Amino acid sequence: MTNSSWDLLYTVISFFLFFYIMSKLYQFFRSRRYQLPAEDLKKGHWWTMVEVFTEPTFCNYSGNQINDGACCDCCGIIVADNFICNADAAIPCKQLSRSYPSCHTTLPVASHPSTASTTDTNITPPTTEHHWIIGNVPADLKCTVCNVLIGSSDKLCHFKCCWCKRAVHMLCKKLSSNTCDMGHMKDWVVPPHCIELKINRVKGRRRLIVQSVEKPSNVTLDRWKPLLVLANRKSGNGDASLLLSKFRGFLNLIQVVDLHDSSPTSALEWCRLLPNVTWRVLVAGGDGTVAWVLSAFDELAHQRIPQLCVVPLGTGNDLSRVLGWGTGHSGDFDVECMLQKISTANVIRLDRWRLDIVPKMSFNLGFTNKRLIINNYMSIGVDAQVALNFHHHREMRPIFFRNRFINKLWYFTYGTKDVLDRECKDLDKKLKLIIEDKIVDLPSIEGIVVLNISSWGGGCRPWGEAGANIPESKHDDKLFEVFALYSSFHIAQLRVGLAEPLRLGQVSSLKIMLFESAPMQADGEPWVQGPSNIQVSFYNQAHVLANSLDASQCVSQ
Ligand SMILES: [Zn+2]
Ligand SMILES: [Zn+2]
Ligand SMILES: [Zn+2]
Ligand SMILES: [Zn+2]
Repeated sequence: MTNSSWDLLYTVISFFLFFYIMSKLYQFFRSRRYQLPAEDLKKGHWWTMVEVFTEPTFCNYSGNQINDGACCDCCGIIVADNFICNADAAIPCKQLSRSYPSCHTTLPVASHPSTASTTDTNITPPTTEHHWIIGNVPADLKCTVCNVLIGSSDKLCHFKCCWCKRAVHMLCKKLSSNTCDMGHMKDWVVPPHCIELKINRVKGRRRLIVQSVEKPSNVTLDRWKPLLVLANRKSGNGDASLLLSKFRGFLNLIQVVDLHDSSPTSALEWCRLLPNVTWRVLVAGGDGTVAWVLSAFDELAHQRIPQLCVVPLGTGNDLSRVLGWGTGHSGDFDVECMLQKISTANVIRLDRWRLDIVPKMSFNLGFTNKRLIINNYMSIGVDAQVALNFHHHREMRPIFFRNRFINKLWYFTYGTKDVLDRECKDLDKKLKLIIEDKIVDLPSIEGIVVLNISSWGGGCRPWGEAGANIPESKHDDKLFEVFALYSSFHIAQLRVGLAEPLRLGQVSSLKIMLFESAPMQADGEPWVQGPSNIQVSFYNQAHVLANSLDASQCVSQ
């Protein structure tokens, strides 16, 4: 190669590198515009950036055809990036309640030509009216007035209601009824005319709070089962954020709560106002998030406790596996299929256990009594050591632990490392295990596990099938299973079904006297426990939904 060819190659590479960096910077700054704080009253729509539209798409503000832009999660309007502020000011989003037309603090200015909400904000409507969004209506939808396909169009025309998802032609709209019955979402949604909001001032900041909730008149009490969706947008590698976006399009905004901005307890707060109905909570996240939400249910004393269902977005997802909600989710969400699964799910009871830890006085260096609630399992020794190593490294270098599959590989690596290190050797000499007031004679072991559900450590079923010598493991019998682990290698063998655990019994309470520090974990949260007396006893039973429907059995509506 001559010198000039090298020069040319360098120029071409630098050129591409420059454009690559510039496009990444552009995307970064573009995406920052969408990260607006939640519950910001000034905010109009809930924008999600769309990199490229695959179908011909028209801006709801200017009417021009656009290739990229922003789409509102709630009402579905689409605008070019430079019209976001104009659209926020001029086009009302989905109504939250009867007293406030949308998330705006001030009433939206007179109806913009590109929206056709028929709501008159001066009159309290006894029902909710269709919220028609003009344009970008899927061509394969049928018009509810003339029953003919909407068809494709080369401009902003035809309407779709952002509540009931019905579509009408431009000319058919005036023949359509005004009242929106929420379509096939009516059993799940809290329509805006059933909610009264008021503004509260907290430390000089205005916050919208729910004042009252009524049952919609077009649904019977036994059918109306409002759904609350809880997820942390930062978890699940972007999946949780996508799920929240999707549900904002189907439900009332107050039914979709981002746990990054509020705790489950405050998310459940307004549900106290629901009339006496069965309501449901969909939690998207790992076992830790599910445990957090179940604890919030405990605070709903004397209220009707909701039924819980799960979208598995964690690393282990053991509870989700046992309840039939899957081993892990990634990719797109089919909201309608999820709702079908929830409506056909069975209500089952889940035992929950109380873990009390009292540090020994002579070694008490500022340690205080600890009380935890266990839904899945608790362990002491080698299994907790592996979780602890994983946890420490994740805290130090979170960037390497963002993907569920990679996390599983890391977990495997720490397990393998412990086969050589054997950090929990001779655990039997560091503690006394007392089951039903009898001290258990332990062989040389490295771990003890208390198991409430049949799945452990991300899908392993160590207790085994019920048989002549193995009592059946159930999650609602007010009994838990106790077994011991010989080593890290034993865990690896259990995972592939090449070994049996050392079964110590099926009991309703247990005590451990711990003489030296040892790693412990409860529902995947590990820590190092100093010398202490540990007790596991019955706490209560939660009502959870168990799914039996396969995704392929869902029927499209
Ligand atoms: Zn909107
Ligand atoms: Zn409608
Ligand atoms: Zn029509
Ligand atoms: Zn049990």
